[in-house]
Amino acid sequence: MDNAVQLTGLSQPELVTFVETLGEPAYRGRQLFAALQHRRLRSFDEITDLPKDLRARLSEVARAATLKIESRYISDDGTRRYLMKTHDGLPVETVFIPEERRDTICFSSQSGCPLQCTFCLTAQLGLLRSLTAGEIVEQIHIALNDAYGTGVKPPRGTNLVAMGAGEPLLNLDQLLKGLRVMSDPQGMHIVPNRVTVSTAGVVPRILELAQISDRPHLAISLAAPADELRNELMPINKRWPIQELLSACRVFEKTLKPNERLTFEYVMLDGVNDSDEQARQLANLLNRHNIKAKVNLIPHNPADPLPYRPSTDETVERFKNILESKGIHTYVRRPRGREIFAACGQLAARQVPLNIETLVGANT
Ligand code: SF4
Repeated sequence: MDNAVQLTGLSQPELVTFVETLGEPAYRGRQLFAALQHRRLRSFDEITDLPKDLRARLSEVARAATLKIESRYISDDGTRRYLMKTHDGLPVETVFIPEERRDTICFSSQSGCPLQCTFCLTAQLGLLRSLTAGEIVEQIHIALNDAYGTGVKPPRGTNLVAMGAGEPLLNLDQLLKGLRVMSDPQGMHIVPNRVTVSTAGVVPRILELAQISDRPHLAISLAAPADELRNELMPINKRWPIQELLSACRVFEKTLKPNERLTFEYVMLDGVNDSDEQARQLANLLNRHNIKAKVNLIPHNPADPLPYRPSTDETVERFKNILESKGIHTYVRRPRGREIFAACGQLAARQVPLNIETLVGANT
C-alpha cells in the first residue's frame, strides 16, 4: 500500500497547509494547485515552475497522479471509454461523451458496486472499494487531457455525471470533496450546477444531500413503478421501498433552485417494465406524490450475461407519450458508445476486440 499523499484530492487551502508542513511558503501551495488542477499536469517533473529540490521532496511523500490508463476505446460516435487502474490494482472506468453544445464526462465513484441491480453489468463485479476524492478528480483530468490536450481549456462547457460504476451516495464524503476541488475557480472551475449525481435510492443520503447548499443535481434510478418489480430489478428497494424513496424526493424537491428539476431515470427493459399499464402506473405514482420531476427513458444496453433486451423504439415512444399525456416531462436518452461497453450499465472493466482503436498502457 502506497502511503503517499494523493494531492489531486486536496483543496487549495489543504495544499497550502501541506506545503507549509514541508517548510515551504504558502504561495508554493497555490502554485501547485494551479499546476495540478488548472494545467492538469500529472507528474512533478512537468511542474517546472517549482524548484527542482522541492519537486524531488514532493515525489518522496506525495503523488501528483495515481490512476494509470490501461486502455482507451473510441466509438464511432466519438464516445471514449477509459479503463484505468488504481495504485492498488483495481479497475476504474470513465466515459467522455462529446456533444454539440457541451461535453459530458460520466465518472465512477466506486470500483465495482455493492448494489445488485439485475440490468447492470457493473453489479457483477461486486464492490471492490470506494474511490478517493483524488481518484474521482483524476478521472476528469484524464478525460479532458485526452480529448483536448494537457491543460487545454475545453472549448465547450463540461457537464459531469456520477453515473459510472458505483453508488455515489455510498461514497458521499469523498464525492463532495472531489466536487469541491473541481469547482475552484483557480482549478477546473466545474461548478455543482454542472454536476448530476445518480442514485439507486439511498434514502438517508438523499436527505443529507438535501441539506447541502452547494450540492449537485440529483437523479434517481427508478426502473419500475411498483415495489414488487423494483425489488426484483433493484434489490436496494427492499431496504428503501418506493414510498420511502419518494418521500425523500419530496424533501429534496423543496430545496430545488428555480429551473432545477429532479430527474428519474427509467431503464427500458423489453417486456419487463415497458407496458402501457406500467407507463400509466408510473405517471400516477409521480403525480400522486406531486413531484416536480422529469423522466429520462433509457433503452437498456444489452450485454452478456444480462438476461434483458432493450425495449423497441416504438414501445419507448408509446411509453413517453403516455407519460407526457399525464403531464410528465419525458426525454429519451440516446445510447452512446454501446459497442465499446461505454453505455449506461455496461461498465464492468470489459476489454473489447481490437478492431476499435485502443491505446494500451498510455498515461495522459
Ligand atoms: S445500476 Fe448503478 S447502483 Fe445499480 S449495480 Fe449498476 S452501478 Fe450499481
